[in-house]
Amino acid sequence: MKKRVILMGPPGGGKGTQASLLKEAMEVPHISTGDMLRAARKAGTELGKKADAYIVAGQLVPDELVNGIVAERLSSETRGFLLDGYPRTVAQADSLEASGQVVDAVVLIEVPDELIVDRIVGRRSCPKCGSVFHLSTLPPKVDGVCDACGGELIQRGDDCEDVVKQRLTTYHDQTQPLIEYYSSRGLLYRVNGNNEVSAVFAEIRKVLEF
Ligand code: AMP
Repeated sequence: MKKRVILMGPPGGGKGTQASLLKEAMEVPHISTGDMLRAARKAGTELGKKADAYIVAGQLVPDELVNGIVAERLSSETRGFLLDGYPRTVAQADSLEASGQVVDAVVLIEVPDELIVDRIVGRRSCPKCGSVFHLSTLPPKVDGVCDACGGELIQRGDDCEDVVKQRLTTYHDQTQPLIEYYSSRGLLYRVNGNNEVSAVFAEIRKVLEF
């Protein structure tokens, strides 16, 4: 099984949902820089304060802030990893490579732009455990309540339409160059993200060989 994995794709493309399923099946940690930054914001740390304005505007937090937290999180990790939302720039990918981390696969979950806004605006997430739901495609069993831990589901502040459009632009400009970066290293696997959650999961399992 390929256990050192980067999940890539547009915002709202299903990376978080797939990561939640994969981490159970693969027994590897789900490392989401978005979740880490939101936790830092909530805790009011220096990092959280610095990240705040970028997140609210749908822009990327500067590389040097993110590279440090990921390198530290991975340095003690031996089980493998599911990186969700990192790297997002070529400079971040270079930093990951320079830190000596070996990557087995980069799974690109592809979803056309015109479907993204609906997918994100209907999204609800659990701030306690990070599980992600969708009002129409993946509703929780009980309205507003997390299936996994019973936490109260919320809509993220940056999941509104105008910020989503900025996040998509940011993705095209700064993250898409990583497609070429990882395909030139023979690590890129494309998966159709415009499908049922279970079908996307099955496709990823095939790629990761389990
Ligand atoms: P996400 O939950 O992955 O959609 O991330 C939410 C927001 O956190 C993004 O719109 C960025 O502002 C910030 N963020 C998350 N990961 C990164 C990263 N690798 N580099 C820079 N900013 C990030």
